[in-house]
Amino acid sequence: MKTHDVVIIGGGIMGGAVALELARRGLQVAVLDRQELMREASWAAAGMLSPAPDCPAAIPLVPLARTSLALYPEFVDAVQDASGARTGFRKNGAIEGIFHGDAERELSTLVALHRGLGLACEPLPLEEARTMEPLLGREARAAAFLPDECSVEPRALTAAVLAAAASAGVTLCPGAEVSSLALQGNKCVGVRTSPGELFPAAQVVLAAGCWSSQISGAAPFAPTRPVRGQMVALRNSGAPIRHVLRSEHGYMVPRGMDAPQTIVVGSTLENAGYEKRVTSGGMEKILAAANELVPELAKAEIIETWCGLRPGTPDQLPILGPAEIEGLVFATGHYRNGILLAPITAKLIGEWIAEHRTSFPWESFSPLRFARANADRSATASSPL
Ligand SMILES: Cc1cc2nc3c(=O)[nH]c(=O)nc-3n(C[C@H](O)[C@H](O)[C@H](O)COP(=O)(O)OP(=O)(O)OC[C@H]3O[C@@H](n4cnc5c(N)ncnc54)[C@H](O)[C@@H]3O)c2cc1C
Repeated sequence: MKTHDVVIIGGGIMGGAVALELARRGLQVAVLDRQELMREASWAAAGMLSPAPDCPAAIPLVPLARTSLALYPEFVDAVQDASGARTGFRKNGAIEGIFHGDAERELSTLVALHRGLGLACEPLPLEEARTMEPLLGREARAAAFLPDECSVEPRALTAAVLAAAASAGVTLCPGAEVSSLALQGNKCVGVRTSPGELFPAAQVVLAAGCWSSQISGAAPFAPTRPVRGQMVALRNSGAPIRHVLRSEHGYMVPRGMDAPQTIVVGSTLENAGYEKRVTSGGMEKILAAANELVPELAKAEIIETWCGLRPGTPDQLPILGPAEIEGLVFATGHYRNGILLAPITAKLIGEWIAEHRTSFPWESFSPLRFARANADRSATASSPL
């Protein structure tokens, strides 16, 4: 079998974006996926490009997320030029409605938190919010505008990224399941596919989403786990929704402006193992949030329901960079932000593989943090009291 410079495990947005970056740098790249490409989290995502943290654990991610958002216009231009396909990128900002609690206090906390993290966020008087979004629910007690936030259509984007990668010379291999890393001592020399064949490569990039932990040899560095998210698409025949809309309980992302407009609504955060199932409880929660944000949408037809498995990690941060094994690099664990983080992940992995340096400090996302934590735990357990 031909030896590639780089073999990438996983053909989602991460595998595709990294492959495209490496091919542009002149490397021979193959992407292996156990099924049809782009059928998992990258296909299921809503497509919000929001660097705002959704919980305290996500705060360390903000600088990386802001950097990736800044790369987006250039990233989609390059992908669209190379593939001739659209990505649905829109730069309209997001409106966050506050429907519960002490709304004025919530609003000032939200604005202060965002500004403290260097994110643009303006209090939006309700009359102005309703001028910008006439369908915003009357029950909203306060609102904020996040002008820099964008959105994209993840299915279109991932397909365009993979097409651009193929046109740059990347070999796409659907139906190639990787069972283990091929290790020789402390060196990764390729991967083994499920029939036990060796797929040799000078470098391996692990980008298998929430399944990364299941590749034999990878789990100590990439303890990923699935976090299920359910989604609904509605057909809006009324006035178009122009911005991403969010509340404490959910969000909606408009796809284009033409009537009838598709509105994607989400989501749930569930620990349900690898089971992909849309449930009545999940739908009830999502639709209740949607009907609060935009009550008019209660009349909208449901045109699709689906779910996907986010690649969660123990600390909710991604897993990026080399481990102690030569020739192995991680690009996984992007949890709720993989669409947003694709451009910066591809850039950093490309820099590391081609130049052995990165333009952004990524040590806090190192796969070694889990191996070290495990070693510390074992040392504590075996030390005498
Ligand atoms: C409901 C939902 C909403 C989301 N909304 C957003 C959003 O608005 N904004 C945002 O930025 N992010 C969002 N995300 C998160 C985002 O989708 C993910 O972080 C991102 O898609 C992860 O990309 P990936 O390529 O790492 O994983 P995936 O897209 O899951 O791809 C992994 C690939 O690896 C393959 N694979 C697995 N095991 C093997 C193996 N053994 N051998 C070979 N191939 C293998 C799989 O078949 C799959 O194709 C959302 C996710 C969900 C589920």
